[in-house]
Amino acid sequence: MRSHLAGSLIGILLSLGPARSGAEGSRAAVSLLAVRSWASPTATRVVMEFSAAVARVAPDSGVSRTVLVTVPGEPVARAANVPEVLRVGDGVVDSLVLVTGVDGARFHAWLADSTRFRVFDLAAGKGEPYRVVIEAVRPGALAAEARRLEGIATRKKRDRVRIVAVDAGHGGEDKGARGPRGVLEKNVTLAIAGALAEELNHIPGVRAVLTRDGDYFIPLRDRYHLAEKMKADLFISIHANSSRRRGRGSGTEVYFLSLRGAGDQADADLADLENAADLVGGVPDQTEDHLVNILYDVKRTSALQQSQLLAETLLDHVASDRRLESRGVKQAGFVVLKSVEFPSVLVETAFINNPSEARLLNNRAFQKSMAHQLAAGVQSYFERARIDLMKGDATTP
Ligand SMILES: [Zn+2]
Repeated sequence: MRSHLAGSLIGILLSLGPARSGAEGSRAAVSLLAVRSWASPTATRVVMEFSAAVARVAPDSGVSRTVLVTVPGEPVARAANVPEVLRVGDGVVDSLVLVTGVDGARFHAWLADSTRFRVFDLAAGKGEPYRVVIEAVRPGALAAEARRLEGIATRKKRDRVRIVAVDAGHGGEDKGARGPRGVLEKNVTLAIAGALAEELNHIPGVRAVLTRDGDYFIPLRDRYHLAEKMKADLFISIHANSSRRRGRGSGTEVYFLSLRGAGDQADADLADLENAADLVGGVPDQTEDHLVNILYDVKRTSALQQSQLLAETLLDHVASDRRLESRGVKQAGFVVLKSVEFPSVLVETAFINNPSEARLLNNRAFQKSMAHQLAAGVQSYFERARIDLMKGDATTP
């Protein structure tokens, strides 16, 4: 860490040239490049991006009306586009005051109310700079969210419908893979997931619920926990592929969970890439749940078999769109697929780094047709799995 820091400082000094590395030996400033906020239904994150790692001082977590993050004794410069005061005003964070100078920096978050917060850093990597994140919980939102999910489960029983949890991959500061001309995976997945939910809600006896309906981050485990709490019958995670190592890449592949790791190295790399979302999103590493008992094994075996059937059925339907090659059903260790409560699949819809497929992914008509095929696949799955849907009972979400 120390040598890495020194290395990046030297790099900045060199890039600034001789004028700045003057006689007093003054150190080059780290730059605050950008500051952004992302609001989810339960929390707001303020993300500060820096040109290099900073030795910041702040409480890790707590309950307060204000959060102070300082960078003592280290010159910090502010990029021209970064304001002195960021007004958020979303009911969780009022504003962030950003004071920078040669002696250090102070970042003072003013919250709307006294609430639980945490502060953490995200290392630079994958095209992202070093970041410091302040996350504040929306007061009362966790209880409200629990009531919302319980309500979905209660209405499911009352209306005798099947719930399909539709998960738009990535979100917020986790942008996912990038395509040409600024096409971002997190936006494409949200658009396709929204269209899929709409299509599914036209099927009598089926109700779709999105795990996220806006541009914010949800940790991978929280995604299936949400689905478990709403008593979902199926879980479909929408993603877009990207091939750094496999040439340009093209086509659709549908994954279900592998308990023994991926079938080949490329699939393992992809799972690593998708699983890295939690690193981007700042969730501490969790050890695997060791729920080893017979009931769990039985549930898991059944969920895996049904997941395979769901994956095959979805791919059959998507493959009927001749614009995309079918790359087959595959298995890998995606964290988001680890629930044993329902069949889960992850659809890598197309390759976002392939310019022609990125154009499709970004196209509203294509998003709708992909959603239409996936919804038809879900309906076929229920038939193949001999799961009865209430007939003639079109539901409203
Ligand atoms: Zn993804």
